[in-house]
This record gives sequence, structure tokens and C-alpha cells, in this order.
Amino acid sequence: MLQISELCKTYPNGVQALKNVSLDIPKGMFGLLGPNGAGKSSLMRTLATLQEADSGSATFDGLDVLVDKDKVRRILGYLPQDFGVYPKTSAEDLLTHFAVLKGLTERKQRKEVVDGLLQQVNLWDQRKRKLGTYSGGMRQRFGIAQALLGDPKLVIVDEPTAGLDPEERNRFLNLLAEIGEQVVIILSTHIVQDVTDLCPRMAIICEGEVLLSGEPLQAIETLRQRVWRKVVSKDRLPSYQRDHTVLSSRLVGGRPVLNIYSETQPDDGFVQVDPDLEDVYFQRLREFEQAA
Ligand code: ADP
Repeated sequence: MLQISELCKTYPNGVQALKNVSLDIPKGMFGLLGPNGAGKSSLMRTLATLQEADSGSATFDGLDVLVDKDKVRRILGYLPQDFGVYPKTSAEDLLTHFAVLKGLTERKQRKEVVDGLLQQVNLWDQRKRKLGTYSGGMRQRFGIAQALLGDPKLVIVDEPTAGLDPEERNRFLNLLAEIGEQVVIILSTHIVQDVTDLCPRMAIICEGEVLLSGEPLQAIETLRQRVWRKVVSKDRLPSYQRDHTVLSSRLVGGRPVLNIYSETQPDDGFVQVDPDLEDVYFQRLREFEQAA
């Protein structure tokens, strides 16, 4: 279990990226959901021992994450948001290089680990290819392979699906899902569907604050009978946005379909729909905006 308590971080330019962030993160997949600039990377980098917090604490199975950095690095697998690779090196060579850095000095054992990981992430057939020729999805799968070196107990992946096409995204998420339940895996994303598909537990953060944490299904239940849908005309859109809590508006066949949060029917023609995690996400963000 990773326990984060009242973590704060203000950058020298005055941006308060983390405001008393407290989260209990059990083993399994945990989704950290928030818009761009919410503070996800700041939190991930802090947990990955790459930057300091101003105050607060984080412990992982008794280990002080903010202090015992060397010990944390030994149990950590990290895929940063801007994971760069050496374009002229093959996947096999670079993974072998990372394995040496991780302390896998015994040749035969190292080869077994590297081969196993290349197979696990489905890059075995392409292992000799230069990384510069890889697609975005292949690069991310390579990124997961390097993050899994050394059997990490805490795996942090920061916005791994941004920029992947749907098929690559699915492959990548399936790979994450297979890592196992005995490991804490934190997946940060601004894509609600990533969390819906994979994460039994989650948190929503915005402007450095935790707006919700818990189980997606439970959060969805709290919106039951409160989400209403209607196809409206484009010129009515601004008045709905002014008078109601519009959770989402998307065009279907060129016409706006609104989801509105309301305890009672907003007006004629609205029908109640089953809430989903996207409704939860936008309801929390709207509530936060309205309170600001
Ligand atoms: P996210 O990963 O959710 O997009 P970040 O943690 O990257 O959010 O950023 C949170 C806020 O902190 C943003 O307003 C961002 O501009 C700011 N920020 C991030 N890194 C730095 C930095 N090194 N120096 C100053 N401000 C930063």
C-alpha cells in the first residue's frame, strides 16, 4: 500500500502544483485522472524520487518514499511522460543496457530477463530494429519493458496513452492489465476511458487538489437518476450552458447532444441516462469550477 499524506509542492514561479494531496493506493491498478496541468506529473515525479515535495509524506509498505530514495529506486518502475529512446539503438541492445544499469550483471540471467520482457511486451520479432523506426505504440511498449526490469513493486506510468491510436492504446492497456495484482501500478491519464477500462480504484485531481478518490463504480452510482440527455439545437447551447450543469456536449450528426447533471428533469425532452465515469469526471470538475 502506498500512502500519500498532505503532499504540497509550489514551483519557484509560484505555481502551486500539489495542494495537500492525500491518497491511499492499494495494490492493483490505480487511475490518476485529471486535465492537463492538474499536477499529475508533479505527483508522479515526486513519487519516482525525481523531485522534492515542500511538505507532506509518502510511505510504501513502511518505506519512506521521500527520504529513502535509493531503496525506492530499487523497487520502482517508471515510465515518464517524455520517455526518450536512442533512435539508432535496437530495442534489444537498449534494454540490455538498462538491465546492466539495474544491476543485472550476470550475462545469462540478464539475457533471460531481457528476452522475457521483449516477449511479454510483444516486441520479440522487432527486437533487432532501431528504436527510431518504432511507432508510438511500440515505443511505449518498449518503455513498459524497461520499467518492468528488476521486478518493481511500485510501477508509475505517466500519460502513457496520449498520442496512441485506438488499437495501440488497447494493446498498451492490455499489457498494463497483465502486470499483476501484487504490484501498485499508478496510471496517470487525462483520458477517462483508460480508467474505466482498467482501474478498480482511482482519483480525480485538478489544480493540485484531489476532487475524488475511491472506486469508479461507486462514484458512478452516486450520479444515478441525475444525468439527463437531450439533442438540442445549436443556438440553444449557450443558454443551456448558462442555466444548467452541462457535463458534456458532443455532436452527433452535426447536432449537440447534451448530458446535464440535475436532481430533476431540466426541461421537456430530457431523458434520464445511465451515468458513466465521464459524467462523474465532468460533474466533479464543474463543481470545482463553480466553487472557485
Ligand atoms: P499534469 O501532469 O497534470 O499535466 P503537471 O504536474 O505537469 O500537471 O503541472 C502542474 C502545474 O505545475 C502546471 O500549472 C504546470 O504548468 C506547473 N509546472 C509543472 N512543472 C513545472 C516546473 N518545473 N516549473 C514550474 N511550473 C511547473
